[in-house]
Amino acid sequence: MTNEKNILQDSHGRDHGYLRISLIERCNLRCTYCMPEEGVQLSPKSHLMTYEEIYEIAKTFVNHGVTKIRLTGGEPLIRKDIPVILEKLATLPVELSITSNAVIIDKFIDILKANGVKKINVSLDSLDAAKFKHITRRHEFEKVYNNILLLEKEGFTVKVNAVLMKGFNENEIIDFIHFTKDLPISVRFIEFMPFDGNKWDMSKMVSYAEIMNYVNTSFTKDQIVRLQDAPNDTSKNYKIEGYKGSFAIISSVTNPFCDSCNRLRLTANGQLKNCLFSSTESDLLTTLRTGNTIEPVIQKAVQAKFKIRGGMDTLEKLQQPKLHNNNRSMITIGG
Ligand code: SAM
Ligand code: SF4
Repeated sequence: MTNEKNILQDSHGRDHGYLRISLIERCNLRCTYCMPEEGVQLSPKSHLMTYEEIYEIAKTFVNHGVTKIRLTGGEPLIRKDIPVILEKLATLPVELSITSNAVIIDKFIDILKANGVKKINVSLDSLDAAKFKHITRRHEFEKVYNNILLLEKEGFTVKVNAVLMKGFNENEIIDFIHFTKDLPISVRFIEFMPFDGNKWDMSKMVSYAEIMNYVNTSFTKDQIVRLQDAPNDTSKNYKIEGYKGSFAIISSVTNPFCDSCNRLRLTANGQLKNCLFSSTESDLLTTLRTGNTIEPVIQKAVQAKFKIRGGMDTLEKLQQPKLHNNNRSMITIGG
């Protein structure tokens, strides 16, 4: 049954007030868990949303109840017209935020502030420069590290996203938590998720339970404080008593948070994805370009949303490559 009034409510009663827009399929890093070694097939430029189209589509979502927009990619800051995209979206009544690898974010401090961006999520998977180079295939550790410090100093709310992988950076969990001792940032440990071309297998993933084991062996029960999670939060939040910052775990694999999911995703080539894990997409851009209204397409896509992880509702299903290989690579979804 469709809901005429609220096109952003799905058949499981979830309202979708949060739109993540991927601005670009390219990136200045090459994280192994995100971008396949051989690269990805890029859309021709003419198939990518222009800034006017991004604005038109975003405005439609806002008219139907979206209150939060997060810009992502690829690396959103390498898109040449990012200043005008920010300026246009800042005219909408939304909380505007961005996810970036922060390599060049120091050049954008004023423009982000001028357009009301207050929350910035930054990817950083290792505090060790050599390991950073290994995972991102680029030598940019210092820039990213210094830019995280800069963002904090400039008054942004900073969350650092670290994807954990067995035998690679799980031994840095406690170092990352110590990083929050004097810095009021949140480090979020993300369970490694399967996407096309990222050679995922369950044995490489560090689970929520394993992360908490590390925490429990390094800190006493009294030191570990469970924080209140925000509504629709994807993470379980904690802090160490007396530390300025906090840490969190995003457990999409072992403990999905789909019940309270309020997110929709728009890819850089204008496809609406109703779930990070969904293998189907709805073509908003062609609909817009042919002069038709996009609302019916949005409503149909939202109605088709599965209750859990794009239909991969068990760990067994998640482990079947044919199910997640139908999805895109993460670099072209946007995280
Ligand atoms: N380039 C920006 C960045 O790295 O923050 C934005 C795009 S990136 C695709 C968004 C987020 O997706 C990053 O925090 C990244 O760590 C996360 N991500 C990418 N591939 C992932 C995977 N296989 N499992 C878990 N998280 C992943
Ligand atoms: Fe680029 Fe972000 Fe993907 Fe790394 S995680 S390759 S920085 S888009």
